[in-house]
Amino acid sequence: MTSPNFTSPKSLKTLCKSLRIKDENTFIAAGCTDLLIHLNQQRLYDYKIIDITHLTELKKIQEQNHTVTIGACVTMTELENSPIIARYFPALKDAAYHLGSKQIRNLATLGGNIANASQSADTLPVLFAYEAELEILDSSGRIRLSKVMDTIEGLGKNTLKKDEVILKIYLKKSAALSAFSKIGARSSVTISKLNACIKLDLTESSTILSASIYLGAVGAKPIQAQLIEKALTGRMLEGLRVDSLSPCIKDQIENAIPTRASKHYKKQAALGVMEDALGKIAALYLGASSEKEGTL
Ligand SMILES: Cc1cc2nc3c(=O)[nH]c(=O)nc-3n(C[C@H](O)[C@H](O)[C@H](O)COP(=O)(O)OP(=O)(O)OC[C@H]3O[C@@H](n4cnc5c(N)ncnc54)[C@H](O)[C@@H]3O)c2cc1C
Repeated sequence: MTSPNFTSPKSLKTLCKSLRIKDENTFIAAGCTDLLIHLNQQRLYDYKIIDITHLTELKKIQEQNHTVTIGACVTMTELENSPIIARYFPALKDAAYHLGSKQIRNLATLGGNIANASQSADTLPVLFAYEAELEILDSSGRIRLSKVMDTIEGLGKNTLKKDEVILKIYLKKSAALSAFSKIGARSSVTISKLNACIKLDLTESSTILSASIYLGAVGAKPIQAQLIEKALTGRMLEGLRVDSLSPCIKDQIENAIPTRASKHYKKQAALGVMEDALGKIAALYLGASSEKEGTL
């Protein structure tokens, strides 16, 4: 066994240099929560590492006029604790909070969760619902933008080229209310068997103007739940009962995984996940309304 080579660039220029000599046996490393498992499972011992965690621009959450920019190496703990994320993207805060254990969240990065492209990745339904974009750098220093939903192929695959790295994630600021919910096998370190993001644009009287809903772990990558979106649009959030959506939630799962044995379980799970997420949005709506009344 030869000892693995290790580079830890501190500037984009040196990162490009490392990317230029990156081969099939060289891995970009952020929190390493997925990478170490991959290296162990594949019994890879002779590999090289490009550690991207020392690039300060990849570790910031920044608010601009219309956008929030999240560095690829921002951890789940940092997302969970950020007032900017809580204010504009409540579902992302929620997804980060529910990912793995505290120890995992301290290491796991947003860029890693995206690049790893697992079918049960918790941040993906949220990033799809918000139509998040990635800033991607290649070895020549060229930067390109790509939507997260176009970059993810699922089941561990993405469209990044061998010499590319995710630098930043862009999210458009939004007044929509959103929530994330998941169901999995264990309570503390839970890989999702089903997860969902619901994002709703509401009027002051709680009528749903538009809905963006993505379900994860029912396909290679999150699916847009168009049947549920349609069923919700025009309804009042206040007093909404999930039972009234039950047929279309079950149809949505049937359409996504018609031949999978797990579809019966996932239909029930989807009802619970939808009820939980809608309940969280109702709580946010009530909080926002009482805040407005308090300022009058
Ligand atoms: C016990 C345990 C529990 C977990 N629970 C959950 C869970 O509940 N929900 C969930 O979604 N995930 C879970 N995960 C998976 C994991 O923690 C996340 O996917 C994490 O966000 C990956 O980030 P990382 O920084 O650790 O990535 P790394 O492991 O460093 O990298 C993962 C992959 O992405 C590549 N990569 C990393 N950063 C970049 C970048 N900027 N540009 C290009 N490629 C990059 C790496 O080369 C590697 O292939 C769990 C993992 C463990 C070990």
